[in-house]
Amino acid sequence: MLKLAIQKSGRLHDDSIQLLKDCGIAIKNGKNQLITIAENFPLEVYFLRDDDIPQYVEDGVAHIGMVGENVVFEKAKEIEIAEMLGFGKCRLSIAVAKNDDYTDASTLKGKKIATSYPLLTKQFLQKQNIEAEIHEISGSVELAPGIGLADAICDLVSSGSTLFMNGLKEVQTVLHSQAVLIKSKGLNDEQMQLLNRLLFRIRAVRKAKNNKYVLLNAPNEALEQIINLLPGMKSPTVLPLAESGWSSVHSVLNEDEFWEKIEALKNAGAQGILVIPIEKMIV
Ligand code: ATP
Ligand code: ZN
Repeated sequence: MLKLAIQKSGRLHDDSIQLLKDCGIAIKNGKNQLITIAENFPLEVYFLRDDDIPQYVEDGVAHIGMVGENVVFEKAKEIEIAEMLGFGKCRLSIAVAKNDDYTDASTLKGKKIATSYPLLTKQFLQKQNIEAEIHEISGSVELAPGIGLADAICDLVSSGSTLFMNGLKEVQTVLHSQAVLIKSKGLNDEQMQLLNRLLFRIRAVRKAKNNKYVLLNAPNEALEQIINLLPGMKSPTVLPLAESGWSSVHSVLNEDEFWEKIEALKNAGAQGILVIPIEKMIV
């Protein structure tokens, strides 16, 4: 049995459950539960506060966990990152009052910075060779400058709307973060095998999300140019259309280069381009 820790409730909870679901692993919703057992995979799921997950994994009480890199690096436990999970994206940033001047990190010299991330803030200041006072608070960090508790904050940001509503502006990124799968160091063979089965599924799901299946019609004289634009998993599939002089081309496109490729395909003479989501992708 593999033991997985995920966030009990909060920003990572739903995406963690959804990823398991996409991997074909069904668990009963654990909002009011602490532990549950998956119905169709040898997996026991612990629902914890995200801050506690690295410790559980270091101790081996949980073998693996899903948690933000921000928490992983702040807690600095003896664990390993097994996979990036692509959700829970945010950044740890320095913010100051919107009317304050800020040129670069040296502006923070001698200032008081409120944060729930004292280690990451300290490491950032050290790297910039700046001495400042770190004031650790556990929540509502964005209120600190307004009530005179600090000159600046170091806190998590995604859209920036919380900062804006509190009269702050983001001036410097300390860390880019996303959810990761962490693992204990001393897993036995059986646990490693289960982890590898889970990783195989997670990679197939994530790869599929980043790719789209593309079908298009091409005049035969443009086929060579179009095929060169389409890598596919091996190479594109080309089938003759009922109308002579035309072919149907099938391939897979990566999200990152998607629009550029579609434009290039259209310019090369492709018509009737269909784009279809892929559910799983095993290479
Ligand atoms: P818990 O009760 O589990 O301690 P929490 O209040 O510490 O929850 P959440 O606010 O649910 O945590 O955030 C959990 C994680 O979600 C963060 O550690 C971070 O990795 C990620 N995250 C993504 N976007 C944001 C954001 N805008 N603000 C805060 N965290 C974010
Ligand atoms: Zn937390």
